[in-house]
Amino acid sequence: MRALILGGSTEAAQLARLLAGQDWIAPTVSLAGRTSAPALPPIPHRIGGFGGAQGLAEHLQRTATDVLIDATHPYAARMSANAVAAARATGVPLLAIRRPAWAPVAGDRWTQVADLAAAARALGEQPCGVFLTIGRQELAPFRAAPQHRYLIRSVEAPEEADLPPSATVITARGPFDLASERALLAAHAIDVLVTKNAGGQATRAKIDVARGLGLRVIITERPRKPDAESVQTAAQAWDWLRAHHAAPRGA
Ligand code: NAP
Repeated sequence: MRALILGGSTEAAQLARLLAGQDWIAPTVSLAGRTSAPALPPIPHRIGGFGGAQGLAEHLQRTATDVLIDATHPYAARMSANAVAAARATGVPLLAIRRPAWAPVAGDRWTQVADLAAAARALGEQPCGVFLTIGRQELAPFRAAPQHRYLIRSVEAPEEADLPPSATVITARGPFDLASERALLAAHAIDVLVTKNAGGQATRAKIDVARGLGLRVIITERPRKPDAESVQTAAQAWDWLRAHHAAPRGA
């Protein structure tokens, strides 16, 4: 059974590990190619866009793909929409892994905003220390709030031209734990955390540390993804694949 896994998330990496070495399935992970040194899966992979929904549909047909797994990040809305459209056009069964969002709990001081421009405005006029964990490609709105001091963490360093004037950049790939997040926030005198609502455990520690320290958290709402049959975890996606393959018991 040929499976195409649209990757770029923790769940895609987990599913690739679960499928490595299994002889009932021929999986390929697709990566967008945003990072120059991606963490490569232990199964075959390809890198780069398909050319929209139509390009993906053509790819599915050309490669005789049997099932499509959308395991993209919660904020990769365009790719997920393309997956739904291409699956509909080709009749290839689609399963989406949709990781639940984080929800505020007692003690959280969250401001939920529509997008990163609203997040930059929500920082306010008063200069403060901001921990920006939104990746490296959407920093531009924060150039409009130059009064703040920014600590920016991303997998790869951002372009200089995208940075606000007072910015310290650190490059790191999750997961991150409570102790190191607490030490980082203290070392950089952080007052406010700005983040996407990624969900999951890998990058959750910063939210818990912010609560413990009584810090504000400005968090962007998730983009809408189109409806699709979905599960929440890589293990559940594995079960779905097995059911689709109807493989002999014990294989
Ligand atoms: P996006 O806005 O939904 O997609 C933009 C375009 O990038 C798509 O139309 C597609 O190009 C290409 N693309 C996206 N994911 C791809 C994949 N897995 N394989 C091949 N092409 C892909 O996506 P994005 O937000 O830029 O995210 C890009 C990648 O980074 C995704 O794989 C996502 O899982 C990962 N990621 C995103 C975020 C985030 O905050 N957005 C965070 C962590 C990881 P074509 O139309 O040409 O096919």
